Amino acid sequence: MQEVICPACGHLEHTQHLKVEDHFLSKESFELLRCNACQLVFTTPRPSLEKIGDYYKSEDYVSHSSTKKGLVNSVYNWVRNYTLNKKVKLISSLVSGRQLLDIGAGSGHFVGRAKTAGYTVLGLEPDADARKVAKELNDVDLDNLDRLYELTPATYDVVTMWHVLEHVYNLSDDVKQIASLIQTNGVWVIAVPNYTSFDATYYGSYWAAYDVPRHLYHFEPNSIIPLIEKNGFTFEKMLPMKFDSYYVSMLSEKYKGGSLFNAIRIGWLSNMRSKNGKCSSKIYVFRKK
Ligand SMILES: [Zn+2]
Repeated sequence: MQEVICPACGHLEHTQHLKVEDHFLSKESFELLRCNACQLVFTTPRPSLEKIGDYYKSEDYVSHSSTKKGLVNSVYNWVRNYTLNKKVKLISSLVSGRQLLDIGAGSGHFVGRAKTAGYTVLGLEPDADARKVAKELNDVDLDNLDRLYELTPATYDVVTMWHVLEHVYNLSDDVKQIASLIQTNGVWVIAVPNYTSFDATYYGSYWAAYDVPRHLYHFEPNSIIPLIEKNGFTFEKMLPMKFDSYYVSMLSEKYKGGSLFNAIRIGWLSNMRSKNGKCSSKIYVFRKK
């Protein structure tokens, strides 16, 4: 039997966390394991780098899609506009510098908004179709993610990753590389789902933000903070993403055959607990030493 190695720290011992199905696309089953050393939860078996693209091939994959069919997608698109402004405001409150790198830029909505706000932006995106959409919809030229390893060290005032770190294939190498690109006193803003949230506990294996096997890792503060800090950063703060609690609950109810009413109830309960760290997704802010 092949040994399962923690993708963040290389440790070999882990604990079973949950069995989860790909409710969104393939209906295949995956196991979530929690590393006994660094507490990262990771998806296993992970598809090979050649095969993983197949799991993104759906028109309904809203992260890349701009189609507006269905209630869930309509709400998602409306909320996205609202949250884009909040994201730009957050960044300008953190750093005065204007060099911004957005990794996993998708359809370029955030890069476009940041560019309008006066940032010098570079957006990296592995999906060629998404890069094309970004040009059409937001008039931004995104580069292929391959360029990540060609960029000049200590260049950026801010690096953003909005729901991207959980998809990154070579976690520890990429974290190290991204860390090197940020200037002293620059910030790294990372948004990821929180598997210790109220909604995650409530929905269990139906929790939509497990999103296996597209999400290779599942974070909570005790795993993500040390991972970034050991690469030369200080953890600064953590913010709730309140709309995500509703969105993820709606998708989870859809997978479960539940109701919109219950999704709103669970999303609200999740947000009520955001002060205790139990909201569905979080933004983590780290500052380079
Ligand atoms: Zn580990």
